[in-house]
Amino acid sequence: MFNSKSKHAEEFISDEEILSSLAYAKQQKDNTQVLDEILKQAETFQGLDYRQVAVLLECVDAQNRTVLDEIHRIAMKIKQHIYGNRIVFFAPLYLANHCVNSCRYCGYHHSNCQMVRKKLTQEEIEREIIALQDMGHKRLALETGEDPINIPIDYVLESIQTIYNVKHKNGAIRRVNVNIAATTVENYRKLKEAGIGTYILFQETYHKPTYEYMHPAGPKHNYSYHTEAMDRAMEAGIDDVGIGVLYGLYDWKYDTVGMMLHVKHLEDTFGVGPHTISLPRMRFASDVDLGDYQRVPDQVFYDIVAILRCAVPYTGMIISTRESKENRRELLRLGISQLSGGSCTGVGGYAEEDKQEQDTSQFKVDDERSLDEIMNELCKTGYIPSFCTACYREGRTGDRFMQLAKSGQICNVCQPNALMTLKEYAIDYASEETREFAEKLIQQEISNIQNEEIRAKTIENLKQIESGNRDFRF
Ligand code: SF4
Ligand code: SF4
Repeated sequence: MFNSKSKHAEEFISDEEILSSLAYAKQQKDNTQVLDEILKQAETFQGLDYRQVAVLLECVDAQNRTVLDEIHRIAMKIKQHIYGNRIVFFAPLYLANHCVNSCRYCGYHHSNCQMVRKKLTQEEIEREIIALQDMGHKRLALETGEDPINIPIDYVLESIQTIYNVKHKNGAIRRVNVNIAATTVENYRKLKEAGIGTYILFQETYHKPTYEYMHPAGPKHNYSYHTEAMDRAMEAGIDDVGIGVLYGLYDWKYDTVGMMLHVKHLEDTFGVGPHTISLPRMRFASDVDLGDYQRVPDQVFYDIVAILRCAVPYTGMIISTRESKENRRELLRLGISQLSGGSCTGVGGYAEEDKQEQDTSQFKVDDERSLDEIMNELCKTGYIPSFCTACYREGRTGDRFMQLAKSGQICNVCQPNALMTLKEYAIDYASEETREFAEKLIQQEISNIQNEEIRAKTIENLKQIESGNRDFRF
């Protein structure tokens, strides 16, 4: 029985409700009155519910380009209105790739004998952080396999402290988001106390039989424990959580509606939906047979991103370097607000001396450009790359963040913070050409800070950054 406030995974992600929503969508996909209402609602930035999303997904299946072109237009409008041309950057950091699970789609799975297993020492983590700081990164997503013996929670906590403590030249990691396996309330409390930003956990697929097939052994096999992880994280006081589906494991319509039910569950139960949604697609990985998977074509993927932008206007949407640079360009237009850049998906790959070692990567990246190359292109084409981490550090998390986002006030701080962090990047890390583009962009974009007082303060802070001071924020 479907109950969005239930504590039980199979009640808040009800298979019956997803199937009945998809059946409803099939009936309504040509109903112009229903479609008009959905488009009108999307245009007012109110978001869409899971049934409306199901109807739009059915339009994707039927390739109703008239409706989908409208959805793309509205998605771009929402993106521009809420996020402007700012793109927030982060980098993944893999601490260890030991894993007791047997996920069929991941190179770290337990029985992959070709995988070189590696766990960074605290000294190696320091070297990784110095390398990441030297690229210009300020925000990380920490990644590990699941292995309570080799990677206990105390190791993760110690690593977070190490990361925050490394201060190299003008660099600093100011926000550590954590993507580790589903765990207990007690461990989530420890992560909260360690000062993490967002807790991220991908559902992979919401379809229970496929989930169990894809995770044949190990603790991750337990669908309910995994699906209820965000409830435990919230109970422990982590109010920024990030969810995601691995597109390609199961039917994309089913999984997108399932994800929307997860959003609804978090909103109805805790008063705040996910802080971010990540949108990974299956990629080649060591000892993984891609023949098992349901490929999601590029155009379908673009449509899904545009629909989600309309459905959850205030939720950050993330695309990693799994996608090609061409796809990332298109997806940025349609609603993506966060990107990883210059990423290494292996353990210890950022520090120069480790680059020659054997492959320890979880999957193959597609966009292999350096962070500076990506920054260069974005600045040249009018996007503002941002290394802002201000909200978490100012206590703007959970429903406090969402209220500010929904009222539109967040833009008053996103824009100056983006410009100030871009200025830091331009001075400390950029190549000459990127610096020129960045400086020009900063000058152009200052006038887009609406609030006069904030604009004046930003100009003052930019001068301070030129004089060698760092870490200004609103
Ligand atoms: Fe382990 Fe995560 Fe890979 Fe599964 S997806 S094998 S849990 S690292
Ligand atoms: Fe994100 Fe907050 Fe910075 Fe805006 S001000 S970019 S919402 S951290």
